[in-house]
Amino acid sequence: MSQGRVENLDVVVVGAGLGGIHAVHRFLQEGLTVVALEKADDIGGVWNYNRYPGARVDVDSTDYSYSFSPELYRDWEWSERYATQGELLRYLHHVVERFGLASHIRLNTPLTRARWIPQEQRYHLTAGDGTELTARFLVMATGNLSEPRDPDVPGLANFGGQVLRTSRWPKEAVDLGGLRVGLVGTGSSGVQTTTALAGHVGHLFVFQRTPHYAVPAQNGEVDQERRALYASDTQFMRQFFKTSKLFGEDGGGSPLGPPRPAGDYGPAEQRERLERQWNLGGQRFHVVFADQTSNKAANDVVAEFVRDKIRGIVKDPAVAERLCPKYPIGTRRLIQADGYYECFNRDDVSLIDIGEAPIETVTATGIQTASGHFQLDVIVLALGFKAFTGEINQIDIRNEKGDTPTTDWNRGPRTLFGLMTAGFPNLFMLTGAGSPAVLANLFTQNEYHADWVADCIRYLDGNGYSSIEPEPDAVTAWSDRVASVALRLLRLQGNDYMVHRNEDGTRVFIPWSGGVDSYVEALEASTAASYAGFRLNSSDNREARAARLDVPLAEEPRS
Ligand code: NAP
Repeated sequence: MSQGRVENLDVVVVGAGLGGIHAVHRFLQEGLTVVALEKADDIGGVWNYNRYPGARVDVDSTDYSYSFSPELYRDWEWSERYATQGELLRYLHHVVERFGLASHIRLNTPLTRARWIPQEQRYHLTAGDGTELTARFLVMATGNLSEPRDPDVPGLANFGGQVLRTSRWPKEAVDLGGLRVGLVGTGSSGVQTTTALAGHVGHLFVFQRTPHYAVPAQNGEVDQERRALYASDTQFMRQFFKTSKLFGEDGGGSPLGPPRPAGDYGPAEQRERLERQWNLGGQRFHVVFADQTSNKAANDVVAEFVRDKIRGIVKDPAVAERLCPKYPIGTRRLIQADGYYECFNRDDVSLIDIGEAPIETVTATGIQTASGHFQLDVIVLALGFKAFTGEINQIDIRNEKGDTPTTDWNRGPRTLFGLMTAGFPNLFMLTGAGSPAVLANLFTQNEYHADWVADCIRYLDGNGYSSIEPEPDAVTAWSDRVASVALRLLRLQGNDYMVHRNEDGTRVFIPWSGGVDSYVEALEASTAASYAGFRLNSSDNREARAARLDVPLAEEPRS
């Protein structure tokens, strides 16, 4: 595009992670003009940014793959049950190359500003490098865990050594050999980092505010039987996703079979199921018993089993006790890691309990807690993300009223199917708040959503509509459903990034927790009823829009 010109497109996709990459491919297949704007200097989204040592997926790679191309599925062989960050990034590069997508992806090009211009039925867009574009459709493929939480550790600026963040790990090799490393944060990122650094640095100090449950991943060989099943029929993979419950409440193909409530089993049988799941590894630890996510007594059985495992693994009873989580299991996302608790049997790894003795300040030479000063060369922060809204709020997106997409989300997200929000025509969110989002397979779900958007655009174009937006009443009804279906969950009371907490003490669970099957059913019922719940606006300005192609941006309404 020449300098100062405006590029007019059908679709602009924001983000070239696993969602954005497939979306670009799908929209191109539809014959649409499309560009993905990616703020990083590489594709991959979270799998580009989170290069920390030990980073790997916590869902079987046989499932955590694209299903849109049977040939792609058959040709790509994962080397392990859970692929590393590096292997995932290579896979995404392979996909971009194989399907010729690179020329449709602009790296180092963050979207900074978007304005919906109703007269044109288009978004006017500005990117960080000054590029100006317009698009009929704006598709946010920005992920739910993209924008890192601010490093709110007191006195961090005092530190004279190196500060690293797991969520923005440098591309260049970082040699921590022989150094005293302080790791703050014990979620999935912190735990995986711990297992990779233990024994490879001079001394590792793990600063733990809250102990979390880490169950074995049991990484190893790829499940070839499952791979062969999907390779023979990737539609099966899609169907498996669409008909699945969340938390695998239907058993989800588990070798343990469909679970029954914990009370249906005697103590020996309970223990046998738990042992088998422990040895199988993976997220199905959520579904050893049908009622463990909603019944505290059932949950206690599972939680106590894991605490016993920790006590059995960690030799120092005081350290073991500090590592034992106290809250109901599964009310925060389960961490999967092999060998995590074993790290604390090493002489060169120390657990620092900052729940009991908080960090007072970072000093020039280390971290001062209420229990003492820890001399450090490097601080690694694994503090988590501004989940769900972080990335959308980063971008100055406004409609003609001057609202942002999250203006009225102060009591929890308000979307229709997690795909759209009221007042923002033609703005789609892939795997957004109010969809299964982080509770379901993000490859398959991103594909499902991009397919839905592509079908929707085809419907609009084929029927003379220029825009679609959700009816405010439908948004209210869906948001109420999202909230009410989660009332049964113990995790609604937990301290999880999936829970929106209101000042009056009420809580809203952010993703749809009623099962992918019921989500798909609701969305497809709306689609089949000519997009019930959505308002479709007629395209009476097509010619005017065409005439505007390749002209400078018009004056915008107030923002
Ligand atoms: P996280 O689960 O939100 O954990 C953040 C950690 O930082 C917690 O231990 C938290 O303590 C601690 N923390 C935050 N602010 C702190 C402060 N000011 N002082 C001390 N400690 C502080 O973040 P995450 O580990 O990055 O994981 C987020 C999500 O990303 C996961 O749940 C998962 O969905 C995804 N993820 C997946 C993988 C994978 O697939 N393998 C890997 C990494 C992440 P508290 O618990 O006390 O708040």
